[in-house]
Amino acid sequence: MTLTLLRGGTVIDGTGTPPRPDTALLIDGDRIVGLGDAVSYQGKNVGGADTHVEVLDVTGLTVMPGLIDSHCHITLGEPASNDELFFHREPAFAAMLAAFNVKKLLLAGVTSFLDADGLYNIGPALRDAIESGMVQGPTMRSGGYALMTAVGGTAGRMIPDEGTAGYAEVVRNRDEMVLATRRQIKQGADVIKIHATGAIPTKTGEVAVWTFEELKTVCDTAHDLGTRVVAHCRGAQSTRDAAKAGVDIIFHASYMDDSALEAVLESGSALCPVFTFLANLADHGPKAGSTGAAQDVFRSEMEQTGAMMRKAYDSGVPLLCGSESGFSLTPYGHWHHREMEVFVEHLGLSPLQAISCCTANGAIALDQVGEVGTLQAGRRADVLVLDGDPSRDVSILGDKGRLRHVFCRGEQVDLSVPWPQRQPLRGESVSSWSAVALTWDLVNR
Ligand SMILES: [Zn+2]
Repeated sequence: MTLTLLRGGTVIDGTGTPPRPDTALLIDGDRIVGLGDAVSYQGKNVGGADTHVEVLDVTGLTVMPGLIDSHCHITLGEPASNDELFFHREPAFAAMLAAFNVKKLLLAGVTSFLDADGLYNIGPALRDAIESGMVQGPTMRSGGYALMTAVGGTAGRMIPDEGTAGYAEVVRNRDEMVLATRRQIKQGADVIKIHATGAIPTKTGEVAVWTFEELKTVCDTAHDLGTRVVAHCRGAQSTRDAAKAGVDIIFHASYMDDSALEAVLESGSALCPVFTFLANLADHGPKAGSTGAAQDVFRSEMEQTGAMMRKAYDSGVPLLCGSESGFSLTPYGHWHHREMEVFVEHLGLSPLQAISCCTANGAIALDQVGEVGTLQAGRRADVLVLDGDPSRDVSILGDKGRLRHVFCRGEQVDLSVPWPQRQPLRGESVSSWSAVALTWDLVNR
């Protein structure tokens, strides 16, 4: 039997307690079995006569829980537009692309994630492929298609009036809501995702497109089958209704007001604001050739919602960190730490508090509280070792060059492999004919 001993490192255990210098961590199989004094673990009292302890000297480095991303879209494949996402992703190719991309999360220090919805019900299959050892990746929990009413979600008229398209499944009435929920659970979904708000092309912002009764229908059906419900809510009314209906995790909760927060407190729902996409567009969009139109809107959404999230945090609502990885503005393996930066910058949390939101609270997203997210004896051995002190600056968690070791389910990830690279496929992305109309004046004036 071989145990692994990480010796000499400074441990951030994820519970929010201050870093502990020179603290050893002992791993046996996929479990953490000890945390404390290195000398006692190196003695003969560990295991038995046939036990070999492999010692890794991590003096000067930080040892912390693996990152948990509570909001990913691993099957979307980094599209730059909804057009690309809905009309240029064949199911079989999308599945292969997801299996190719998921390793990037692991190489970035993510040891578990929740994929709330995705293309063609690929998520549950990818989760099983990872679990069975076919595909290398973090521990995954997954939803299937996102349930939408015929009004749709954020893709406007691309959402059909019935049936499925891309990541959407349209449910037209309460019978279809019950049926779709039961079918998704049968097909392996860990969570049911509801798109509670949608963008109507002729109106600004997103509006509530589900009634309270409809939300409750899905929640009751899923809960009866031991399955949790998560919902995309961009608006105070939808957040309040979702909480009252029994939604377990509310994504975005944009422009949450006091009555919505009250409902959240009463229901015990967790909040996952997923600011990262907005923050990336607002702060770095132009670097990626993104036009500035939405920058100010997103910045003010972050400011307003950030203040309410802080209030929620102070009232004891668990906040989760999600990156929305899967789009061209949030490519895989690059921004899984970013939400922590936003929590520090816009919510005024300390780096240690932000880290706990990502790790300890991330366990809520996976429905694995007490199993993952903190470094404690008995927990799963999902561990990062990095050069630098994230309790001073969480942004260093985005620098993969600082990662020295990643353990996922007790297995050490080979960080020496090159970053996965591929060529774009023909017809994979949509090119525009021009950025502006080629008028006579443009040519001649
Ligand atoms: Zn999302």
